[in-house]
Amino acid sequence: MPFGISLGELLERAGGVNGHLQALLVGGAAGALVGPEALGTRLSMEDMRAAGLPLGSGVVMVFNRTRDLGEPIRRIARFFAHESCGKCYPCQLGTQRQTEILERAAAGAALPGDRQRLLDVGWTMTDASLCGLGQTAASVTLSALKRWPELFPND
Ligand code: SF4
Repeated sequence: MPFGISLGELLERAGGVNGHLQALLVGGAAGALVGPEALGTRLSMEDMRAAGLPLGSGVVMVFNRTRDLGEPIRRIARFFAHESCGKCYPCQLGTQRQTEILERAAAGAALPGDRQRLLDVGWTMTDASLCGLGQTAASVTLSALKRWPELFPND
């Protein structure tokens, strides 16, 4: 697809959505989850940056309303925990803690403070990790926390 088309046009050209659109993952595992309100965003460096979204690897994944969004969020968190090389603590520990908190919430066993803990871990990884892996390991979780707070433990 050419640079500059909108996310909505991209979906149309790809054949549309099966069912009702719930979310799009833009930029891949290090990207962000957005809702249907982002369909007008153009896929260019400038427009995506202005919207606070990464183009990343160029991946666009589409989720309809039948999907439990928590499942891909946890899967991505597990991916980063597995891929972390362990050289710096923010990423080594942060990716593990992020995964644990998400899985605890999915099991209905969230602890008081887990939502804030998830935010703190995410911001710490983003700000203090040595390389791009740790710096983006919380991007999907943080974007989902902002857009779908109901998916996460509520203190
Ligand atoms: S941020 Fe990079 S250097 Fe630090 S542990 Fe993660 S993968 Fe290793």
